[in-house]
Amino acid sequence: MPWVQDRSQEAAPGTPFEDRGTTIEPVVVATPMGFMRSAPCTGMIVATGSGGVNGARRMDHESCVACDFDGSLFDARQLLDAIRALGPEWSTLLSNAGDDLRVRPAPETWSAIEYAAHSRDITALHVFGVDQALRLDEPVIPEIAADELIEEASATYATADPGLVASELGDQARLLADLAEAAGPASWTRGITIGDSRRDVRSLLEHALHDSHHHLVDVEDGLSVLRARTR
Ligand SMILES: [Zn+2]
Repeated sequence: MPWVQDRSQEAAPGTPFEDRGTTIEPVVVATPMGFMRSAPCTGMIVATGSGGVNGARRMDHESCVACDFDGSLFDARQLLDAIRALGPEWSTLLSNAGDDLRVRPAPETWSAIEYAAHSRDITALHVFGVDQALRLDEPVIPEIAADELIEEASATYATADPGLVASELGDQARLLADLAEAAGPASWTRGITIGDSRRDVRSLLEHALHDSHHHLVDVEDGLSVLRARTR
Protein backbone atom coordinates (compact mmCIF):
# COMPACT_ATOMS: atom_id res chain seq x y z
CA MET A 1 0.00 0.00 0.00
CA PRO A 2 1.66 3.20 -1.13
CA TRP A 3 0.49 5.24 1.84
CA VAL A 4 2.00 3.05 4.46
CA GLN A 5 5.48 2.89 5.81
CA ASP A 6 6.56 1.00 8.84
CA ARG A 7 7.24 3.62 11.45
CA SER A 8 10.33 1.74 12.59
CA GLN A 9 11.91 2.70 9.28
CA GLU A 10 11.14 6.35 9.64
CA ALA A 11 13.94 8.86 9.90
CA ALA A 12 15.65 8.70 13.25
CA PRO A 13 14.48 11.21 15.86
CA GLY A 14 16.18 14.49 15.28
CA THR A 15 16.43 14.06 11.54
CA PRO A 16 14.54 16.96 10.06
CA PHE A 17 12.11 16.05 7.32
CA GLU A 18 13.76 18.50 4.93
CA ASP A 19 16.90 16.42 5.03
CA ARG A 20 15.02 13.90 2.96
CA GLY A 21 15.35 16.23 0.02
CA THR A 22 12.60 16.57 -2.51
CA THR A 23 11.49 12.96 -2.32
CA ILE A 24 8.22 12.80 -0.49
CA GLU A 25 8.21 9.94 1.96
CA PRO A 26 4.83 8.42 2.66
CA VAL A 27 4.31 8.01 6.37
CA VAL A 28 1.92 6.06 8.44
CA VAL A 29 -1.29 7.97 8.43
CA ALA A 30 -4.48 7.87 10.32
CA THR A 31 -7.74 9.44 9.43
CA PRO A 32 -10.13 10.50 12.16
CA MET A 33 -13.01 8.66 10.55
CA GLY A 34 -15.00 6.67 13.03
CA PHE A 35 -12.42 6.87 15.74
CA MET A 36 -12.39 9.96 17.89
CA ARG A 37 -15.72 11.34 18.89
CA SER A 38 -14.59 14.91 18.52
CA ALA A 39 -12.79 14.34 15.26
CA PRO A 40 -13.90 16.18 12.16
CA CYS A 41 -16.42 14.56 9.97
CA THR A 42 -13.74 13.88 7.45
CA GLY A 43 -10.57 12.02 6.80
CA MET A 44 -8.45 13.05 3.91
CA ILE A 45 -11.34 12.40 1.63
CA VAL A 46 -14.48 14.40 2.02
CA ALA A 47 -17.28 14.89 -0.39
CA THR A 48 -17.22 18.47 -1.49
CA GLY A 49 -18.67 17.67 -4.87
CA SER A 50 -17.18 18.80 -8.12
CA GLY A 51 -17.95 19.58 -11.67
CA GLY A 52 -20.51 21.99 -12.95
CA VAL A 53 -23.53 22.47 -15.11
CA ASN A 54 -23.26 22.62 -18.89
CA GLY A 55 -19.49 22.65 -18.70
CA ALA A 56 -19.41 25.65 -16.41
CA ARG A 57 -16.72 25.29 -13.81
CA ARG A 58 -17.93 25.46 -10.24
CA MET A 59 -15.52 25.88 -7.39
CA ASP A 60 -16.42 23.86 -4.31
CA HIS A 61 -15.01 24.69 -0.95
CA GLU A 62 -14.75 22.84 2.30
CA SER A 63 -16.67 24.14 5.27
CA CYS A 64 -17.36 22.92 8.79
CA VAL A 65 -19.79 24.29 11.35
CA ALA A 66 -18.02 22.52 14.22
CA CYS A 67 -14.84 24.57 13.92
CA ASP A 68 -16.08 27.49 11.79
CA PHE A 69 -13.85 26.64 8.88
CA ASP A 70 -14.80 28.11 5.52
CA GLY A 71 -12.40 27.37 2.69
CA SER A 72 -14.07 29.91 0.42
CA LEU A 73 -12.69 32.74 2.55
CA PHE A 74 -9.11 31.97 1.54
CA ASP A 75 -7.55 33.19 -1.66
CA ALA A 76 -4.45 31.34 -2.82
CA ARG A 77 -2.02 33.49 -0.86
CA GLN A 78 -4.09 33.36 2.33
CA LEU A 79 -4.45 29.60 2.04
CA LEU A 80 -0.69 29.09 1.81
CA ASP A 81 -0.02 31.55 4.63
CA ALA A 82 -2.54 29.79 6.87
CA ILE A 83 -0.98 26.39 6.15
CA ARG A 84 2.47 27.75 6.96
CA ALA A 85 1.14 29.13 10.24
CA LEU A 86 0.05 25.68 11.45
CA GLY A 87 3.47 24.72 12.80
CA PRO A 88 3.81 27.79 15.05
CA GLU A 89 0.16 27.46 16.15
CA TRP A 90 0.63 23.85 17.23
CA SER A 91 3.95 24.65 18.84
CA THR A 92 2.35 27.38 20.94
CA LEU A 93 -0.59 25.20 21.89
CA LEU A 94 1.60 22.27 22.93
CA SER A 95 3.84 24.58 24.94
CA ASN A 96 0.83 26.00 26.73
CA ALA A 97 -0.63 22.57 27.49
CA GLY A 98 1.70 22.14 30.45
CA ASP A 99 0.87 19.16 32.64
CA ASP A 100 -2.21 18.44 30.53
CA LEU A 101 -0.15 17.63 27.41
CA ARG A 102 -0.75 13.89 27.67
CA VAL A 103 -4.06 13.90 29.50
CA ARG A 104 -7.21 12.82 27.69
CA PRO A 105 -10.19 15.01 28.59
CA ALA A 106 -12.37 11.93 28.10
CA PRO A 107 -11.48 8.27 27.55
CA GLU A 108 -12.38 8.46 23.86
CA THR A 109 -10.91 11.88 23.18
CA TRP A 110 -7.28 12.28 22.27
CA SER A 111 -4.86 14.28 24.39
CA ALA A 112 -3.09 17.36 22.98
CA ILE A 113 0.00 15.40 22.01
CA GLU A 114 -2.05 12.66 20.36
CA TYR A 115 -3.96 15.15 18.25
CA ALA A 116 -0.75 16.95 17.32
CA ALA A 117 0.96 13.74 16.21
CA HIS A 118 -2.13 12.79 14.25
CA SER A 119 -2.23 16.19 12.59
CA ARG A 120 1.44 15.84 11.65
CA ASP A 121 0.67 12.55 9.90
CA ILE A 122 -2.42 13.89 8.16
CA THR A 123 -0.43 16.90 6.94
CA ALA A 124 2.29 14.56 5.66
CA LEU A 125 -0.36 12.55 3.85
CA HIS A 126 -1.51 15.68 2.09
CA VAL A 127 2.06 16.53 1.11
CA PHE A 128 2.22 13.14 -0.53
CA GLY A 129 -1.14 13.60 -2.26
CA VAL A 130 -0.36 17.10 -3.54
CA ASP A 131 3.07 16.04 -4.72
CA GLN A 132 1.57 13.10 -6.62
CA ALA A 133 -1.17 15.23 -8.15
CA LEU A 134 1.29 17.86 -9.31
CA ARG A 135 3.93 15.50 -10.66
CA LEU A 136 1.81 12.76 -12.22
CA ASP A 137 -1.05 12.80 -14.66
CA GLU A 138 -4.19 12.16 -12.62
CA PRO A 139 -2.77 9.36 -10.44
CA VAL A 140 -5.14 6.76 -9.01
CA ILE A 141 -4.42 5.18 -5.64
CA PRO A 142 -6.35 2.39 -3.90
CA GLU A 143 -8.66 3.21 -1.01
CA ILE A 144 -6.96 3.58 2.34
CA ALA A 145 -7.64 1.02 5.07
CA ALA A 146 -8.36 3.73 7.59
CA ASP A 147 -9.12 1.70 10.68
CA GLU A 148 -5.94 -0.36 10.52
CA LEU A 149 -3.84 2.71 9.87
CA ILE A 150 -5.36 4.55 12.80
CA GLU A 151 -4.49 1.74 15.14
CA GLU A 152 -0.98 1.40 13.81
CA ALA A 153 -0.13 5.09 13.76
CA SER A 154 -1.83 6.16 16.95
CA ALA A 155 0.09 3.63 19.05
CA THR A 156 3.06 5.99 19.06
CA TYR A 157 1.16 9.22 19.63
CA ALA A 158 0.69 9.28 23.40
CA THR A 159 4.39 9.15 24.20
CA ALA A 160 5.60 11.36 21.35
CA ASP A 161 7.98 14.23 22.04
CA PRO A 162 6.06 17.51 21.74
CA GLY A 163 8.98 19.54 20.41
CA LEU A 164 9.71 16.98 17.73
CA VAL A 165 6.06 16.62 16.77
CA ALA A 166 5.58 20.38 16.46
CA SER A 167 8.75 20.69 14.44
CA GLU A 168 7.80 17.85 12.10
CA LEU A 169 4.27 19.18 11.73
CA GLY A 170 5.68 22.60 10.85
CA ASP A 171 8.08 21.06 8.34
CA GLN A 172 5.28 19.15 6.62
CA ALA A 173 3.00 22.19 6.56
CA ARG A 174 5.70 24.36 5.01
CA LEU A 175 6.54 21.65 2.52
CA LEU A 176 2.89 21.41 1.54
CA ALA A 177 2.66 25.16 0.99
CA ASP A 178 5.99 25.28 -0.83
CA LEU A 179 4.97 22.53 -3.26
CA ALA A 180 1.67 24.25 -4.03
CA GLU A 181 3.28 27.66 -4.35
CA ALA A 182 6.02 26.42 -6.66
CA ALA A 183 3.44 24.86 -8.97
CA GLY A 184 1.22 27.95 -8.86
CA PRO A 185 -2.53 28.25 -8.32
CA ALA A 186 -3.23 27.66 -12.01
CA SER A 187 -2.21 24.03 -11.51
CA TRP A 188 -4.33 23.49 -8.41
CA THR A 189 -7.05 21.91 -10.54
CA ARG A 190 -4.78 18.91 -11.09
CA GLY A 191 -6.11 15.92 -9.20
CA ILE A 192 -5.51 12.59 -7.53
CA THR A 193 -8.07 9.82 -7.15
CA ILE A 194 -8.08 7.71 -4.01
CA GLY A 195 -10.46 4.79 -4.26
CA ASP A 196 -13.23 6.31 -6.30
CA SER A 197 -12.92 9.82 -4.90
CA ARG A 198 -11.07 12.50 -6.84
CA ARG A 199 -9.66 15.55 -5.10
CA ASP A 200 -7.86 18.41 -6.74
CA VAL A 201 -4.88 20.21 -5.26
CA ARG A 202 -6.91 23.19 -4.06
CA SER A 203 -9.29 20.93 -2.16
CA LEU A 204 -6.40 18.96 -0.68
CA LEU A 205 -4.89 22.21 0.57
CA GLU A 206 -8.21 23.31 2.04
CA HIS A 207 -8.70 19.94 3.68
CA ALA A 208 -5.19 19.84 5.13
CA LEU A 209 -5.77 23.26 6.66
CA HIS A 210 -9.25 22.36 7.89
CA ASP A 211 -8.21 19.06 9.43
CA SER A 212 -5.39 20.63 11.39
CA HIS A 213 -7.45 23.68 12.35
CA HIS A 214 -10.27 21.42 13.49
CA HIS A 215 -7.92 19.55 15.78
CA LEU A 216 -6.42 22.76 17.13
CA VAL A 217 -9.95 23.60 18.23
CA ASP A 218 -10.39 20.07 19.61
CA VAL A 219 -7.27 20.50 21.71
CA GLU A 220 -8.26 23.97 22.93
CA ASP A 221 -11.64 22.56 23.96
CA GLY A 222 -10.02 19.58 25.67
CA LEU A 223 -7.60 21.76 27.60
CA SER A 224 -10.49 23.98 28.72
CA VAL A 225 -12.31 20.92 30.03
CA LEU A 226 -9.23 19.74 31.92
CA ARG A 227 -8.54 23.16 33.39
CA ALA A 228 -12.13 23.63 34.49
CA ARG A 229 -11.85 20.33 36.34
CA THR A 230 -8.76 21.32 38.30
CA ARG A 231 -10.05 24.73 39.28
ZN1 LIG B 1 -13.93 21.47 11.29
